[in-house]
Amino acid sequence: CGIFAYLNYNVGKERRYIMEVLFNGLRRLEYRGYDSSGIAIDADLGSSAEEEGGTPYTSPLPLIFRREGKIESLVGAVYSEVDAIELDLEKLFMVHAGIAHTRWATHGVPSPRNSHPQSSGLWNEFLVVHNGIITNYEVLKETLIRHGFTFESDTDTEVIPKLAKFVFDQAREVGDQVVTFSQVVIEVIRQLEGAYALIFKSPHYPNELIACRRGSTLILGVKSLTDTKNYAKSFGDVQSLTTDCQATELFFSSDLCAIVEHTKNYLAIEDNEVVHLKDGVVSVLKFDYNKEKPASVQRALSV
Ligand code: GLU
Repeated sequence: CGIFAYLNYNVGKERRYIMEVLFNGLRRLEYRGYDSSGIAIDADLGSSAEEEGGTPYTSPLPLIFRREGKIESLVGAVYSEVDAIELDLEKLFMVHAGIAHTRWATHGVPSPRNSHPQSSGLWNEFLVVHNGIITNYEVLKETLIRHGFTFESDTDTEVIPKLAKFVFDQAREVGDQVVTFSQVVIEVIRQLEGAYALIFKSPHYPNELIACRRGSTLILGVKSLTDTKNYAKSFGDVQSLTTDCQATELFFSSDLCAIVEHTKNYLAIEDNEVVHLKDGVVSVLKFDYNKEKPASVQRALSV
């Protein structure tokens, strides 16, 4: 019922701050109503991953926390789990890109396993937060099960990260090593029917986030600590903008109210636009079901 994401480029904040930004985002979206919540952040778990045979990627492990009920119970759970595994928060969370969700259950009862982020499976290679309903999820689920996927939730959402993993693996099988995050996501949404606002996160694409929507509101917030005015101006003039990575924070939210406390520069994402954040560059692609390739579009930032 509410989605929120935070991506920063080493802005010199404490790592705890990143989690607080995510929690505050959820608190701002609380008024929309929800029955559960969750976040995914990056953690450096060091040798524990190696002991289990190694991950299929080298970037930090995405760590997921999901709870039924109040946001404060999620907040408490995150901090107490961190304490329970006796790890120093400052050292543990090498966080740059976090995603968060408040859920209003449509498919599957409120429970931790039905909460978002939903995952592609082992190692969380693709994670998704979703507002809305995927109407053709049953067909997609059957197909994915035939391809060997096992489902852990009763949500319609779970087909999305699993489809992303399927698309990603298939691209790799045909030797396409350079499949980009947006190529994967576009191939996924090509197959989705229904209404959605989505944010994707993947350790295969560390420090990148992708958001897209169809029928549900989604806002991008852009904060530059150096010169916000110029940033906004040049954003309007070019297709996508390269900024100084040292001074940028980016936000996605299903409501402007969770962004205004950080920045006044925002972009209301439109239907069928795929917004890709990478290396401080915001790329907006317009997706057309009838065309093979999405077009780059020029969008101006509201200030
Ligand atoms: N349909 C999804 C679910 O039930 C998303 C619900 C929502 O918008 O919060 O998990």
